[in-house]
Amino acid sequence: MLYFLFISQACNLRCSYCGGTPEDRIMPLRISYDIDSLKKFLSRDANPTLIFYGGEPLIFMRDLMRIMDEIPARYLLQTNGLLLRKLPSQYLHQFDGILVSIDGRNDVTDWYRGKGVNQRILENVRYIRDKENYRGDLIARLTVSEKSNIFEEVKFLVSVELFDHYHWQIDALWDYPRDLRWNNFDYWLEEVYNPGITRLVKWWISWMLKTGESLGIVPFLVLTRILLTGKPVGLQCGAGEVAFSIATDGTLLPCPVSAGYEWARLGNIQDQEPSALVGKIGLEEPCVNCDVRWICGGRCLVANKTQYWGKEGFFKVCESIRHLIAEIENHLDELCHLISRGILTEKALDYPATEMGLEVIP
Ligand code: SF4
Ligand code: SF4
Repeated sequence: MLYFLFISQACNLRCSYCGGTPEDRIMPLRISYDIDSLKKFLSRDANPTLIFYGGEPLIFMRDLMRIMDEIPARYLLQTNGLLLRKLPSQYLHQFDGILVSIDGRNDVTDWYRGKGVNQRILENVRYIRDKENYRGDLIARLTVSEKSNIFEEVKFLVSVELFDHYHWQIDALWDYPRDLRWNNFDYWLEEVYNPGITRLVKWWISWMLKTGESLGIVPFLVLTRILLTGKPVGLQCGAGEVAFSIATDGTLLPCPVSAGYEWARLGNIQDQEPSALVGKIGLEEPCVNCDVRWICGGRCLVANKTQYWGKEGFFKVCESIRHLIAEIENHLDELCHLISRGILTEKALDYPATEMGLEVIP
């Protein structure tokens, strides 16, 4: 199974949609349990993947390296990228994949994350690619909010030729009140985001035709596979089924964003078996009986449980999912053509997004 392992709550950025302010009541600032108890807990899982998470997990790099020294597992890293070049080579090359938080064009990332941040991230990613010869999966992980134009942000990140995959999450439904960070979410969704998806799907296909290569835009790849196979999916981030989270005090949760919610507490690494966690928490309405659930999977367990934006706000976000599905459906013939020409490969379509710690549905 996949475990999002909090190395710390501390972060070296203060992003506008996050804040990065550690909250003592949620969990301790850094790991407070004995590493042996983590080792014992994970030894009961035949195939564990640890995805190091925070805050910024590289702030307490020694804790992370000690865990890698002592606990055999498959490793992933989710990082803001600012300390990447400080990670010693022997650890860097052990990561199957690195998820780098970056929001797109310079002015957009800098608007959310701070002046000069985008360039610093790109320099560090370039450094591990060129100087360290890192060949694992580099994933650009965008947060998409009111300043973002999804078409421009993804196109920019493709143009820097550093990443293997691209994935994004809409900054929606996380908190209350609904318009805490939005001037006009509905307008943005209808007039900016959805048209941006329409353009991006077309551009994705033309890019692959032009270059003769697959392009790793994760939500498009996975939805193409689902629509072509007709095989229904579950919650695609895997929360509560194949993916869990371990807080700095050892508390077990279905996903990292659920820290702080009473309903999400699944016990502690000291007193739980990995297998006992599976299926304890699941989706409720409106996802359970939704007509597109077999394709969507339910988007987000936390959003489904909290419903911070009410039914109306929740369904507004669902409109973006329906639009995305429709856009892929509209282009299935062209996508089949790319597959038959060997451009869009089976390997690309079979991308194991959940195993890489991605939610699939933005
Ligand atoms: S489209 Fe909306 S209601 Fe339907 S499964 Fe997805 S998140 Fe749930
Ligand atoms: S999609 Fe929601 S439930 Fe799944 S990992 Fe992300 S925040 Fe957690």
